[in-house]
Order: sequence, then structure tokens, then C-alpha cells
Amino acid sequence: MVVELVSVGTELLLGNIVNTNTRYLAEKCALLGLSMYHQVVVGDNHDRLAEVVRTALGRADVVIFTGGLGPTEDDITKEVCAEVMGLPLVEDAHTRQRIEEYFRNNIYKRITDNNWKQALVPLGARVLDNDNGTAPGLILEKNGKAAVLLPGPPNELYPLFEEQVSPYLQNLQPEVIRSQMVKICGIGESGVEERLLDLIDGQTNPTIATYAKTGEVHVRVTARAADEQEARKLVKPVVKEIKSRLGDCVYTTREDETLEMAVVRLLHKYGLTVATAESCTGGLIAGRLVNVPGVSDVFREGFVTYSNKAKRKYLDVGKGTLKKYGAVSEQTAKEMAIGGAFASDSDLCIAVTGIAGPDGGGEDKPVGLVYIAAYMKDTVTVEEYRFKGNRQKIREQTVVKALDLLRRSILKHYM
Ligand code: ATP
Ligand code: MG
Repeated sequence: MVVELVSVGTELLLGNIVNTNTRYLAEKCALLGLSMYHQVVVGDNHDRLAEVVRTALGRADVVIFTGGLGPTEDDITKEVCAEVMGLPLVEDAHTRQRIEEYFRNNIYKRITDNNWKQALVPLGARVLDNDNGTAPGLILEKNGKAAVLLPGPPNELYPLFEEQVSPYLQNLQPEVIRSQMVKICGIGESGVEERLLDLIDGQTNPTIATYAKTGEVHVRVTARAADEQEARKLVKPVVKEIKSRLGDCVYTTREDETLEMAVVRLLHKYGLTVATAESCTGGLIAGRLVNVPGVSDVFREGFVTYSNKAKRKYLDVGKGTLKKYGAVSEQTAKEMAIGGAFASDSDLCIAVTGIAGPDGGGEDKPVGLVYIAAYMKDTVTVEEYRFKGNRQKIREQTVVKALDLLRRSILKHYM
């Protein structure tokens, strides 16, 4: 089945907002196993939108529109779709009632005349209740084609899609698609592909796709089958095989689990506490850890020790160490990790020191040189990296490697 996406809004054409809705919907549709050949952006203009509606419905089975469902004059998506599909607009009593309720519950919002425009729906349309706004989603069907109309604001679009559109699209398909993610750290994309080469080459069902992320590789295993159970049965052995080939590099097979969540999960599991001692990342590692709800049980303290003085004052890094080896050195990283663990009385401490650039690099210590040290119950592991890219990229990669070193230090200790 072929799906096409149409984003409506002049502000998208002008670059005032980023088209995150298309990214979201495209990813979701791919997961559902739907084919997509076109994505269109069009302004709030009657004639041009009408042309897009005609073209899209001519070449796709389902067209998903976002934006332009609101109460104002320039919101015309519903009107134009109804017109092109030859469906008259009629008032929907249920939607009218929901709009009344919405305003009753939102004392700060005043109902205006044009809000009633949102109670009009194309004849025969399926109305998708929107709990986060007044414009309902709509599904219009005619001549074997469907137009799905969704509001532009992401907080309205996402739940509508998850709860109502996704099941609708799945129903249109005879087969179910199920996939599982394998998230990998500590080995590059080509390394992953090399180890999975024969699996990837021989793939038909399930399929294996790899995606490179900053410092991580994600592998998605996707199967199609007559029913859910069958599809899962196809996915399972492949995921198991990938895990056995990549070992510790796999940090999770849970779709929603991030690297920091995996780290925090391990800290909880073994009842460990952690501290961070950061120089070039300036608190980014602590920030990532604090992304995770419930981290307060395991995260003690985060030190941002940018200057040599701070490294000495808070982490007790030796004056002689800094003088002899410099701030960006294996020795300093090591002492930062030990100092951070003792100062905060934590089981673990992850420390980073490096040159993020653009200035400050030299011949023996180039921009991108980073030392990451992990202290874990009396053992310290230090790793040296030479990252490429700008300041931002170098710092992002450092954070990922640091979180991963934390993860691997815990695993190693308990193996
Ligand atoms: P409203 O009732 O808020 O007017 P609407 O369905 O008419 O909703 P638009 O007016 O087109 O939608 O857009 C409203 C807001 O939704 C935009 O200002 C923007 O913040 C967000 N939005 C719209 N389209 C997109 C998109 N493609 N990607 C991300 N955000 C979007
Ligand atoms: Mg609008």
C-alpha cells in the first residue's frame, strides 16, 4: 500500500518552522511497512493545495495531511480536500459538543465564532477525537482512496496518530509488520556490517537495516507475517544471533531505551552510585544522565572542572600531574575519576578531559584528542580517543563514549 504525506503551511515553505511532522510520520509509516514515494509541502493557498490533493490521491492509496485544520481563515485543508473529493461539509453534533466541552474546561480560552467551523466535517468522514485541541482528525474515503487529515501541532498529531491512525492503517494491510531494534555502542557501522554481513546479504524476511547515529549504531530487524505471533517468531532468532555476534556492544534491544537509560538501569540493578567529572563536555554527561527519571537514587554529583584550578580544588588532581602531563592527558583523566569518586563518595566516577577546539590544539595534542576515565571500585580504565569534527561533534561523541565506558565498566566488574 502506498502512502503519501502532505504538509500544509506557508510557514513551512518559508523555513519558519522545521517539518518535524513529516519526519515523524515517515518513520511511523516505514515501521508499518507502508511504501512511500512522495512527500509534499504546500502553502495555505486554495488552488495550489487543490492541485496537490488531486495529484496525491491520484498516485497514492492513502494521503496523510498535516496542518491547516484550525479555526482561522488560512486553515483550509479540510475544505479543499472535501471539495476535491466531492464531499459536502455537514455539521457533526458530536464534534460541536466536544468543542463546547473543550472551552468549558479551558477557562483561559474564549470561544470565538470561527471555532464552530471546526465542527463541520465532510459527509461520511470518520471523526478522530482530539483530546489536546479543538480540531478533530478526519478520515475521508472515496473510490478506494483515503485522505487522513491531522492537526499540525505535534502534541495533537502524535497521540492522534498513535491511537487512531496507526490502527486504521494496519487494518488496511493484509499482513502485519513487526520489528525489533538492537542498539549498539563501541563499534562503528562498518564493523557492525562486517560481523553481520552474511545475515544482511541473505535477508528477505526478516530484513536487517543498520543506521549510524552519533557514536552508536542501530540495527532494525523487521518481519512481515500473517499475524503478530508469526512475525515475532521470525524476528526473535535473528535478534538473538545479532546479540551473540556483537556481545557486550549491544546495550539494549528495547525500542525506547536510550544509552543513558541503559546505564541507569545497570546502576540500579547493582545498587551503584555514580559521579561525573567533566572538563571539555562541561556537564553534558551529567545532563544526559539526568534525562532519565529515577536517576536521583544513583547519581551523586556532577563536577564541571574546566580550569586546572578547579581540577585541583574539587578533584584533588596533583599539581605535579598537571604540570608534567598537562590537563589533557591520561594521568589527569585518571586522577579526575579517582578524585570525583572520593569527593562524592560514589562507587563510580566518569571523567573526561580533551581538546574540543577549534583552538588549543597542537601537534602532539591535536583538536579532538580526548581522554575518558572510569573509576569503578578501585580500578580505573582510561581510553584515548581522537575524534573528528567541529567542537559540537567532538563533545557529542565524547558524551556517548563516556556513557558507554561507564556501562562497560559495570558489566566488566560483574562478569
Ligand atoms: P491550529 O489549530 O493550531 O491552527 P492547524 O491544524 O491549523 O492547528 P497549522 O496552523 O498548520 O495547524 O500549524 C499550527 C502549528 O503546528 C504550527 O505553528 C507549528 O507549530 C505546528 N506545525 C504545523 N505543521 C508542522 C509540521 N509539519 N512540523 C512541525 N510542526 C508543525
Ligand atoms: Mg492553523
